[in-house]
Amino acid sequence: MTRYAAPGTSGSVVEYRSRYDHFIGGEYVPPAKGEYFANPTPVTGQVFTEVARGTADDVERALDAAEGAAAAWGRTPAADRAAVLLRIADRMEANLEKLAVAETWENGKPVREALAADIPLAIDHFRYFAGALRAQEGTISQIDEQTVAYHFHEPLGVVGQIIPWNFPLLMATWKLAPALAAGNAVVLKPAEQTPASIHVLLELIADLLPAGVVNVVNGFGAEAGRPLASNPRVRKVAFTGETTTGRLILQYASENIIPVTLELGGKSPNIFFADVAAERDAFYDKALEGFTMFALNQGEVCTCPSRALVHSGIYQDFLAEGVARVERLRQGDPLDTDTQVGAQASNDQLEKILSYIDIGQQEGAKVLTGGHRVELEGDLAGGYYVAPTVFEGHNKLRIFQEEIFGPVLSVARFDDYDDAIKTANDTLYGLGAGVWSRDGVTAYRAGRDIQAGRVWVNNYHSYPAHAAFGGYKQSGIGRETHKMMLDHYQQTKNMLVSY
Ligand code: NAD
Repeated sequence: MTRYAAPGTSGSVVEYRSRYDHFIGGEYVPPAKGEYFANPTPVTGQVFTEVARGTADDVERALDAAEGAAAAWGRTPAADRAAVLLRIADRMEANLEKLAVAETWENGKPVREALAADIPLAIDHFRYFAGALRAQEGTISQIDEQTVAYHFHEPLGVVGQIIPWNFPLLMATWKLAPALAAGNAVVLKPAEQTPASIHVLLELIADLLPAGVVNVVNGFGAEAGRPLASNPRVRKVAFTGETTTGRLILQYASENIIPVTLELGGKSPNIFFADVAAERDAFYDKALEGFTMFALNQGEVCTCPSRALVHSGIYQDFLAEGVARVERLRQGDPLDTDTQVGAQASNDQLEKILSYIDIGQQEGAKVLTGGHRVELEGDLAGGYYVAPTVFEGHNKLRIFQEEIFGPVLSVARFDDYDDAIKTANDTLYGLGAGVWSRDGVTAYRAGRDIQAGRVWVNNYHSYPAHAAFGGYKQSGIGRETHKMMLDHYQQTKNMLVSY
């Protein structure tokens, strides 16, 4: 076990500034209106820095800088752009612990996950898109004797990116890496709950990028996000956040006729077929671990498997063993490498989760474990901790239909294959799904029949850069990760040339 020193105490690998301005044109720029907002850590509830409160004027300044940089960056040879991405990845790798502790301190997640997953995935994303860019090619075709058609890719120009608070650095990287590889300049707005992590990253990598290629305007959605997403100078908006906010982004984009990527909410089913319990072996053990995955990142994952559907033939035993395993998850200090469940990202989120626990009880669902706030001791007493909670109920309840975005699992039983698929698809969302079966045919059929952009079969919560990720139904439009993202950040130029 290692416990990382808390930022602000001696020996910490992260040193925050007392104040973060906007990052525009390669330098820190104070907010036009001169206002700042407090940024608390969910680990203790204490404010650790203050951050510039952006407005439309700040967005305009950032767009000036981005427009100034976009043309040269877009014309930089692909090999040189790829080399910059590789250097960013190397710099991040050399500072893995710093970035992981920053991610933990701001978001509340266990540092073991930030070290093992969030930051390594972010690094790999830059490397993957460097490689994808080198491999990207246009096409040439002969139309007739005199004429040849050339198709090639051009950057969009300046893109706006708006991200949530659940994986501050990973979400930033998912957006930055393909946009930069494709040759665009970016104005990014981090979530108001987690604005500092991106600045820890920028301090490490700013010297690797031409000024103005990446700009960050901090602030709230209505004050800084809206002027960015609705600005006619922005050629594409990439947004990750709630479905309700996604609808607004789509409206703004319609004014300017620009493409959007929307990565929105989810209510992902995790289906356990009867053959899972055919033997008490390693497969069964892995399925039980899959049952506990709703608590990963304290449930603040868009693909959180928040609905477990268990075959009635194995229901009782499987559920009992699953709940016992949930009770063994180690919750505590997020900076301790033994901790598996940390703090919720904000006090608002904590309140929202507790209100859903009340709703579940009021609508008659039974709490099998958890169902309450967790009071830790010492400095952690002011932090935002909720016990992983398992409800038993049915799919019509609000706790089965609405995204809670916390460590709350709703479990129901099903009787046969059709019942499982019907219940799984009985939701507005279609982001992720899990299927657990030893039978390849059942697993394949279920994967095919579930309406979701990502189906994990006999595993859950892996996010390789080369696997396309995104939602069906109201979980979004477009995809992230995968080399197809280069196309999504470019436009196609066709030239018909007669010789
Ligand atoms: P949110 O929609 O409240 O905020 C997301 C971002 O949008 C923030 O930066 C916020 O400031 C900004 N914003 C808010 N209102 C805006 C407006 N009117 N105009 C422009 N920007 C605005 O979402 P959240 O609470 O930060 O994040 C949680 C949500 O994100 C969950 O629904 C979760 O499922 C979703 N999410 C989805 C994915 C995915 O890949 N599909 C990944 C992570 C999170």
